[in-house]
Amino acid sequence: MHAHRGRVPVLLPYPFAGPFDYRVPNGMELAPGDIVQVPLNRREVVGVVWDGAAEGAVGDHRLRSISARMDVPPMRADLRRLIDWIAAYTLSAPGDVLAMALRVNAMQESAPKLGWRRAEIPPDTTLTKQRQAVLDALALAEPLGSTALAEVAGVSAGVVRAMADAGLLLPADLGAADSPRPDPHRPGPLLSLEQSAAAQALRESVEKRHFDVSLLDGVTGSGKTEVYHEAIAACLQAGRQALVLLPEIALSAQFLARFTTRFGAAPAVWHSDLSPATRRRTWREVATGAAGVVVGARSALFLPFVDLGLIVIDEEHETAFKQEDGVIYNARDMAIVRARLCHAPVVLASATPSLETFYNVEHGRYRHLTLPSRHGGASLPDVHLVDLRADPPARGELLPGPTNAAVRETVERGEQAMLFLNRRGYAPLTLCRRCGHRVQCPNCTAWLVEHRARKILTCHHCGHAEPIPPCCPECGAESSLTAIGPGVERIVEEAGRHFPEARILPMASDTLSGPNAAAEAAARIERREVDLIVGTQIVAKGWHFPHLTLVGVVDADLGLGGGDLRAAERTVQLLHQVAGRAGRAEAPGRVLLQSFNPEHPVMQALQAQDLPAFRAREAAERKPGHWPPFGRLAALIVSAEREADAEEVAQILGAAAPHGAGIVVLGPAPAPLAILRGRHRRRLLLKVRRDIAVQKLLRLWLSAVSIPSQVRVEIDVDPMSFL
Ligand code: ADP
Ligand code: ZN
Repeated sequence: MHAHRGRVPVLLPYPFAGPFDYRVPNGMELAPGDIVQVPLNRREVVGVVWDGAAEGAVGDHRLRSISARMDVPPMRADLRRLIDWIAAYTLSAPGDVLAMALRVNAMQESAPKLGWRRAEIPPDTTLTKQRQAVLDALALAEPLGSTALAEVAGVSAGVVRAMADAGLLLPADLGAADSPRPDPHRPGPLLSLEQSAAAQALRESVEKRHFDVSLLDGVTGSGKTEVYHEAIAACLQAGRQALVLLPEIALSAQFLARFTTRFGAAPAVWHSDLSPATRRRTWREVATGAAGVVVGARSALFLPFVDLGLIVIDEEHETAFKQEDGVIYNARDMAIVRARLCHAPVVLASATPSLETFYNVEHGRYRHLTLPSRHGGASLPDVHLVDLRADPPARGELLPGPTNAAVRETVERGEQAMLFLNRRGYAPLTLCRRCGHRVQCPNCTAWLVEHRARKILTCHHCGHAEPIPPCCPECGAESSLTAIGPGVERIVEEAGRHFPEARILPMASDTLSGPNAAAEAAARIERREVDLIVGTQIVAKGWHFPHLTLVGVVDADLGLGGGDLRAAERTVQLLHQVAGRAGRAEAPGRVLLQSFNPEHPVMQALQAQDLPAFRAREAAERKPGHWPPFGRLAALIVSAEREADAEEVAQILGAAAPHGAGIVVLGPAPAPLAILRGRHRRRLLLKVRRDIAVQKLLRLWLSAVSIPSQVRVEIDVDPMSFL
């Protein structure tokens, strides 16, 4: 409709406020979603023809022309709407969101060989003669490239493209053979009554082909994965595609193996570490519909599914779904948006669902499916609290008598044990015994963490690393630097002394980099080549190790400091997950939580394994102050290289803050990480009643303040981190 005026809006992957107009050269036919090459200043850049009318702000004489339409499948309407939606929700420039989607778009990286095949066409569809001719041409040979297809059918290229836009044609690969498709007709395991009820409900949702959200709330080991496999089977049977989002794709090894056993073929995998060839292949198979199931990290949300029929978000409560830099968004929430745009159901799976999700359940927005017991009669582990005041470890050590005894017994019985400490490295602090100097990051308000195995001190915030200095950088004293506090490497060392016979496997994200290393570690555990696993949060989730019967949590109090809104909730989630690794088969499991504060409600909830009671308590604490999920939050993070610049803008923002009933602005205040990567940081927090949308307030607020170029203001809607 805008093309007749000879110009179209083109969205470019840069932080501009919106699309720019470009002239359509004579003879070029363009429609929204087309990927084009256009001049920008002195460069040629790739953009996407956007929807709506051209703006008309630039006069015809100054308008620049589109250089070329790229011969790649157009960006589909649902993805364009998702980009608009994310931009509006997070107050990001639409181009910055587009950039994420284009980074996923591997087609630009090589000349594609794509043609068209026929879509499933409903019998009551009326077709023009020309369109019928195109379908007939495809019946002879499938697939065909655009030009060949138009020729064989005797129609113009425009007809082919219009049919693609109308969903009558689907892109198809002209080149390589597709990966084998998972077979939904293979029989799954025999489900228990509870499992089949949940699976049946999900199957029905998938078959209805409309948007709804189900919370699959089941204790660890209850068979949530088996249940959502049934939903995936239903989706494949309907000829549609399914997306499974996992919080950490590095942990997916066991998932992939189980999936392959169930469906006879592996799913397509999507994450940022794929080789270029695999990326291209996967992107193409998703775009052609050849890939039936994709398992991926956050960025899989931007893949070009042709017919998305189901999204599963496993471990929905995980903060790893939140992207904390660039466009700050929560992939769980945006996946729900994408599903709505595609008329597909969503499954949120968790043993410890977030309070946000429960809020939506209680308000009737999400359906609640429960699996209250472990599969096959396995019982939940017994949880004991080890009071570190009553049973202190020996001087300089971290494991007290009861823990040591339990590990020894377990290993002697030929079972496996795991010690968990959510802290990478050897020690979180290096201190000079002579002068008291603490070794700090040169770029951040943070101590450097000793990684003894790698012989470095490193910053967990900016990645700065330096060799461990031989003497104190402050007073020069030799051999005076001492490691203070617990780190997982230290547990490995201590366990080595206590259990010299045991085969110990350290597992941390810095020592097991990449999915292959994690898979190899998991395989060794499964083959029982390991007696004792010592790990960080990488060992907490998802794994199913049948011979693991003891889990010891070295510092259960660790996550409770810091005053974060969700500190208690997150500690319960993490430790409950870790505990859930124990006793998943016949042999019963045991969990020891080492704590200085065993009376704390978090410890009590974990011991009693009474999560509903804990949630009720949390809810009661958050509700009166309208804290999430009973209210909404947005954070502004002001940063600058010069402290005075950050402070000044923070003060101006503070003075211009919105006010009114149900609106509170806290701050400005120095961020807990007052300096990060060399930038000084101030924070403001907007808290509003749940019925007030924060986006409108934020837009008004920011439009009232002009931000100098040396100052950056990041907006974090629904913040999870308060650093
Ligand atoms: P969750 O995802 O809830 O932690 P899983 O789906 O991993 O639970 O199931 C735990 C273990 O029990 C897995 O080894 C799984 O294969 C097995 N399991 C669950 N349900 C069944 C079933 N109906 N038949 C056979 N094995 C099952
Ligand atoms: Zn740093």
